[in-house]
Parts: sequence; C-alpha cells; structure tokens
Amino acid sequence: MIRSKLPNVGTTIFTTMSQLAAQTGAVNLSQGFPDFNAPLALLDAVGRHVAAGHNQYAPMTGVAALREQVACKVARHYGVTVDAELEVTITPGATEAIFCAIQAVIQAGDEVIVFDPCYDAYAPAVALAGGQCVHLQLSGDDFRIDWQAFAEALSPRTRLVILNAPHNPSGALITRADLDQLAQLTAERDLYLISDEVYEHLVYDGAQHVSVLAHEQLYARAFVVSSFGKSYHVTGWKTGYVIAPPALSVELRKVHQYVNFCGVTPLQHALADFMAEQPEYLDQLPAFYQAKRDLFCDLLQGSRFRFTRTPGTYFQLVDYSAIRPDLNDVEMAQWLTREHGVASIPISVFYQQPVAEQRLLRLCFAKREETLQHAAEKLCAI
Ligand code: PMP
Ligand code: GLN
Repeated sequence: MIRSKLPNVGTTIFTTMSQLAAQTGAVNLSQGFPDFNAPLALLDAVGRHVAAGHNQYAPMTGVAALREQVACKVARHYGVTVDAELEVTITPGATEAIFCAIQAVIQAGDEVIVFDPCYDAYAPAVALAGGQCVHLQLSGDDFRIDWQAFAEALSPRTRLVILNAPHNPSGALITRADLDQLAQLTAERDLYLISDEVYEHLVYDGAQHVSVLAHEQLYARAFVVSSFGKSYHVTGWKTGYVIAPPALSVELRKVHQYVNFCGVTPLQHALADFMAEQPEYLDQLPAFYQAKRDLFCDLLQGSRFRFTRTPGTYFQLVDYSAIRPDLNDVEMAQWLTREHGVASIPISVFYQQPVAEQRLLRLCFAKREETLQHAAEKLCAI
C-alpha cells in the first residue's frame, strides 16, 4: 500500500473533460486554451533563438531580457517600478510560481485562506507543505469576497491568503476597496499574500484590472503571479513569472532552483523580443477577447442557458437550470458532452463544499469564430 501524500486527489477536471471531448468528438470549451495561434512574430522569434543556439539552461531567475521586459510592462500598466534583478523571477508556468511561493512560506500547521470556487492547483500545494486550507465562499451571483467572513476566519495560524482576480472560473474582478479591506484586516498580522493575476489583461467593458503590484502595503508581503500563456495565446509554453519584494523573492528562488531550476530558454528569449518590439500588443487584448465574449453571448441569447456577461477571463459561466435542473453540474457536463457535443467545466469541483442548488457550467470562449458558432448552434438546439 502506498501511503499517498494526496489521498483525496484524482485526475484534474481539465484532463478529464478534455479527454472526454477528444473521445466523443465534442467541441472542447472545457480546459482553458485558445484554438488559434500566437502572433507570427512571436512564433518566428522562437525559431530564430533555437537556430542561434539559445538551447542551454537559462539563468535560474530567468533570461535577463525577459525579466526586464516584465519590469517595463508592469511600469507601463500599473505605474510601478520593480527591480528586474531582485524582484522578478521567470518560472515554468504560473503553476510552478504558485507552488514555489506556497512551499517557501508555509510550514506544518499553518493555515491558508482561499476563496471557493478556487483554482485546483492551490490546495494540493498547501497540503504538500503541511498546511491547511481554510475555504471561504465567494458570495452572490457576482462572486464577491465577504470581508466579514474573512475577518472571522483569520486566526493566529493564518500565514497566507491566496487571491485570484480576474477570477477563474467566475470572471469576477476585485476593486481597490477590496484590496484596502484586505490590507486593513491583515495589517497587524504576520502573513503573506499570493495574488494570482494570470488573467490580468482579460478585463472587459472598460474596466481596469486592479493589481496588488500597485498596492504598496499589500505588495510588501505579496507574490504577484502571472502567465505568458494567457496573454500571448501560448498556454503550452508553460512560461510565467512571479514578482515579489527582494526578501520574498530570495525565499521563492530557494525553492524554484530545486523544483525546476529554470524555464525553457528559447521561449524566454522569444517572449522578450516580442514584448520589446510590440509593447502595445497587450493593449488590444481586452477588445480582442471582449469581441469573442460578445459574439458567443449574442449567439447564446437564442438558447435556454442563462448568463450575465463575464467581466473578465476567457470563461463564461452559464446557468442550465431551465434545461436539466435534475442533474448536478458534473452530470450535466458529461451529458452535454456525450449527448450534445459540447464539453464544459462543472464548477462544483472548485468548492470544498459545493453549493447544492448551483447549476453552473464554465465555457471557454478563447476560440475561433467558427468554433464559437459551431458550439453555439449545438447549445441553442437543446
Ligand atoms: N492560475 C489560474 C487561475 C489559472 O487559470 C491558470 C491556468 N490556466 C494558472 C494559474 C496556471 O497558469 P500556467 O499555465 O502558466 O501554469
Ligand atoms: N487553467 C486552465 C483552466 O482553468 C487549465 C490548466 C490545466 O489544465 N491544468 O482551464
């Protein structure tokens, strides 16, 4: 008998649903990834760097040119200055950054506050560090943080809070007032913050992403994580970064150097070139994805699914209670894939305690127009 360190962990919902989509030939709107390619200039840059011999280990903290581009980017978008050498670390995906940050600060018995529905990578990393997640539920149809409940959940053992905004799976954003609340409630406490901002550039209807980087008091104790995968349509490159004050970066790098040592070299060079050549590329992303959201939602008006247009991320939640209220969301996702050819993600898997009456599925609209049309036709026929 193996004494599992993660006895309650199975295969992730992303693998399960993408596999089911492949087996059944369903349109895959489950796992979040684009079905279109990255900008040609970025793809060409990879070939150039591979040919130029940039194929050996990158520096442990990341290729310097890319760290500098990250610093330029956050100055441009959030008006903050970070030290590319001491505060920026390139990681093999945001997932590795989050894992390393958790291992760096969590000791046996520490508590970590997370907000459900919560991205699936957090809790296993906390468990491996010997910590315990305290799950708070986001409230209302707009998935707000209940700061009263948060204040009550704080204990002398709370060591870390994990924020995720724009939020996967709901798309909810946070406000400056949320960050001020968090800063105020935690001011006297010895705890850290991971701010998972991988969808930072995917916000709609003129809203602005509020980054922890621009909140001086919170940033002093924070790891701010992002992913090139989301912003440049290259989820398979598994390249991300974490920005943290120098002392926290030192601790994070102690872990990162033994988990992976470094990210993939030619990809880092290619991203650095592209960011230097087209810093304005990110400015058009909200409009690009908002057009996809609106196309998809306009098409879904003709269906029996109910929804409010998502304020951020490339996920749209839809309520199916007018169609099959008898099915829970896991059953519904299976039924929809098998019987109607559209794969989705049930959101109950992101809860410690699923909300019994909730009837929500997550659909990814990071797809070509024809894919969205094809999926919508199927969804409207139900
Ligand atoms: N956090 C959230 C909320 C995500 O949705 C994802 C990925 N989809 C990640 C982290 C991981 O990003 P990466 O693929 O760069 O590891
Ligand atoms: N973050 C992606 C999503 O939410 C999935 C990443 C993964 O497959 N682990 O769909």
